[in-house]
Amino acid sequence: MDLARTDFYLDGRWVDACADATLPVHNPATEEVVATVPAGTAADVDRAVAAARAAFDGWAATAPAERAAHLDRLHAALTARADDIARTVARELGTPLKLAARVQTGLPLTVLRGYVDLAARPPAQETVGNSLVVREPVGVVGAITPWNYPLHQVMAKLAPALAAGCTVVLKPSELTPLVSYLLFDAIHEAGLPPGVVNLVTGTGPVVGEAIAAHPDVDLVSFTGSTATGARIAHLAADRIARVALELGGKSANVILDDADVVTAVKVGVGNAFLNSGQTCTAWTRMLVHRSRYDEALTLAAKAAQAYRLGDPFAPDTRLGPLVSAAQRERVRGHVARGLADGGRLVAGGPDAPVPDRGWFVAPTVIADVDPDSALAQEEVFGPVLAVIPVDDDDHAVAVANNSRYGLAGAVWSADEDRALRVARRMRTGAVDVNGAPFNPLAPFGGYKQSGIGRELGRYGLDEFLQTKAIQR
Ligand code: NAD
Repeated sequence: MDLARTDFYLDGRWVDACADATLPVHNPATEEVVATVPAGTAADVDRAVAAARAAFDGWAATAPAERAAHLDRLHAALTARADDIARTVARELGTPLKLAARVQTGLPLTVLRGYVDLAARPPAQETVGNSLVVREPVGVVGAITPWNYPLHQVMAKLAPALAAGCTVVLKPSELTPLVSYLLFDAIHEAGLPPGVVNLVTGTGPVVGEAIAAHPDVDLVSFTGSTATGARIAHLAADRIARVALELGGKSANVILDDADVVTAVKVGVGNAFLNSGQTCTAWTRMLVHRSRYDEALTLAAKAAQAYRLGDPFAPDTRLGPLVSAAQRERVRGHVARGLADGGRLVAGGPDAPVPDRGWFVAPTVIADVDPDSALAQEEVFGPVLAVIPVDDDDHAVAVANNSRYGLAGAVWSADEDRALRVARRMRTGAVDVNGAPFNPLAPFGGYKQSGIGRELGRYGLDEFLQTKAIQR
């Protein structure tokens, strides 16, 4: 074991946890325990929230340019740690190092850079008749985050919260807490005022619930599963606290008959298997027009078989393990059920070879999936793609919308107007047409059970502001 932390970051310093209990952190590629972190308690949360509350008035009153300067210094401190961040995420999550550098490190730095700019020019006040309408920070934010993009999901909350003038108590996922320790080293070096950001690690039922139920937390900003999001919303509802929820997904990748199928399948498979399929926005349902269906299946099987699984630190590895043994069992269960429900295996599956050590699942493509079956309806969170034939645009839209989720999606067509018409009809928070790139300044969030609220860019900032009318 490399690291045994016993401390949290509270009120501007590293202090010992109230209790001695610890939680193990594993390397999912080797199954070894690589670190331990404290299992926080409600008493630790009380200390963190008290620090954030005490710091709030001062931080909220800080001039925008000064807040921006703090975030800029944080950006510099994190940039200096970029290699360490990528290696830490590769170790605690299993993301291949190259991808960890680009997505797990580069993306949160880009998000933070965007909020340096937005912090410097906060939303203007407005005059409505005899009213002056002003935007003010919401207050103390409880941020609870998952393991799959462990720094990005923290940054998507922390950066806008700080830019808006809020103070924060963070509970990262207990499966990937190590990158948050690096983040708080950078926060300390950047010299943010004591209490403005606080870290407590621990389990969801103990630390997470203590944050969600805390009377002094004004907004609970959560990213994770829909079931946990519902629990958090219930806890917050009891005291009418705000919630922002970024939850699960089962996004559809719609490939129309006039699409460039080669590109659509290549990009679609890459999207579905990104980060071993542990991506909330993954296009896990590929909906292909019947006239191009067989062609798409051949291409998808070939693309899946070309993935190299293995050590996240090896330069040619494209697919790492899943985060935990439990997650691997869940994913295996989904594959077995998908096949039992009539799906046809075209790549991967239960018997495909995987490394002996580590929580790996082979990239799997299952065809002829019934749109109502569990594999088409449940979030798998592993490298498993369900392919479904569709008859025409109306049918594609109906199947795409046949989901309790609505987080992301894609449409491919040679006719951009046609693709845009389909995109507008999809009940989902984002749609990419013909492989358009991810935009870190665009609003990000869910329709239906994929969540409430938006993150990123100026829409993300809005979540951390409230509106006051002053009549004169
Ligand atoms: P999870 O819901 O199990 O855990 C997320 C966080 O909530 C963790 O920090 C966990 O400790 C905490 N938690 C668990 N139970 C809690 C409780 N009762 N009260 C308070 N906090 C609790 O989710 P996960 O397994 O870490 O992450 C995977 C899920 O996250 C997937 O469903 C995925 O789609 C979703 N996700 C969504 C987005 C998005 O932006 N929409 C992004 C990434 C992941």
